[in-house]
Amino acid sequence: MENNKKIILTGDRPTGKLHIGHYVGSLRRRVELQNSGEFDEINILIADDQALTDNADNPGKIRDNIINVVLDYLSVGLDPNKVTMCVQSQLPALHALTFYYMNLVSTARLSRNPTVKSEIQMRGFADEGLPTGFFTYPISQAADITAFDATVVPVGEDQLPMIEQTREIVEKFNRIYGDTLVLPTAVIPSNASERRLPGVDGKAKMSKSLGNCIFLSDSSKQIKDQVNKKMFTDPQHLKIEDPGHLEGNMVFAYLDAFCNDDHFKEYLPEYANLDELKAHYTRGGLGDGTCKKFLINVLEETLAPIRARRAEWESDIDSVYDIITEGTKKAREKTNATLQRVQSAMRIDYFKDRSIINEWKEVIKQ
Ligand code: ATP
Ligand code: MG
Repeated sequence: MENNKKIILTGDRPTGKLHIGHYVGSLRRRVELQNSGEFDEINILIADDQALTDNADNPGKIRDNIINVVLDYLSVGLDPNKVTMCVQSQLPALHALTFYYMNLVSTARLSRNPTVKSEIQMRGFADEGLPTGFFTYPISQAADITAFDATVVPVGEDQLPMIEQTREIVEKFNRIYGDTLVLPTAVIPSNASERRLPGVDGKAKMSKSLGNCIFLSDSSKQIKDQVNKKMFTDPQHLKIEDPGHLEGNMVFAYLDAFCNDDHFKEYLPEYANLDELKAHYTRGGLGDGTCKKFLINVLEETLAPIRARRAEWESDIDSVYDIITEGTKKAREKTNATLQRVQSAMRIDYFKDRSIINEWKEVIKQ
């Protein structure tokens, strides 16, 4: 369906506090888009139902983390006057849409989703048995996106297969039932480290489920410890004179995602920019300690205002409650309207008015 409005839908699973991977992959962009004034609507969904698909035995964890995620949103500068923050499980239209869309996707197609494949491995479902809900979560994500008529979905790279799946569902739905759903487009960051920030251990993407994170709410000391004690660098760079390698080196991956030229002026004026620092490191003669210290300063400058804003909101949880309940109410109206449109397109709106009585009278004559 053509949509003249510019609408964003994006979100996170309340499986833990948000980390700096979320920040560079999605949150920072959301704030920019919010402040650009270019969008008619920005909706942010806390995907608790999706989080339950691999945490069915631990609903308390999901319940507790809803507040953590809302606080993270508010601390990075998402403004409840400009964005609608809402909770997935309280929007029943999403469940109904998921159920209809399931009929449009084959199990073979779901099995090919590369992100879901690697998540199944990571979570040990390959051995334990795969929950059907987890297997089908890309379909529920399509319900989320389409329920809001989203045109733009700003996400990290791991989400691209989900947007692709959504687009296929939209095209198939519109082909079968007539032009009803809006086709969304993914927006991902331009730089590789931002698209998929690795964990401090350098092994995989930073992920709440893997315990390799620097959280937005971490203290200065926690950041220092993660960088100094846990961060993977270059195992061949034993002496300062040795040439260093950038590939797989987390200090440089994080600098790619976070630092700008002003940070050099402020904290490391011997170098004009990151290219110069990288050149010296690869040439040899630059120690990991100097680079780590610079990274700590860069992270601290980025995270200090976020931490401060968080502390303010933490002292006013009543207002946070109001923000999320009002946002959810608004989202309920919007998603219910989409569900009605979908049901009309599918001709399952039997009791909308009494017109089906005439149809039934014709049927019984046959
Ligand atoms: P979980 O382990 O529970 O899946 P997660 O850390 O992967 O948690 P999600 O809530 O699944 O976080 O992801 C929310 C958003 O943040 C998505 O758009 C995702 O692409 C983005 N994102 C998550 N991790 C990273 C990362 N390391 N780098 C860049 N973007 C990320
Ligand atoms: Mg994830």
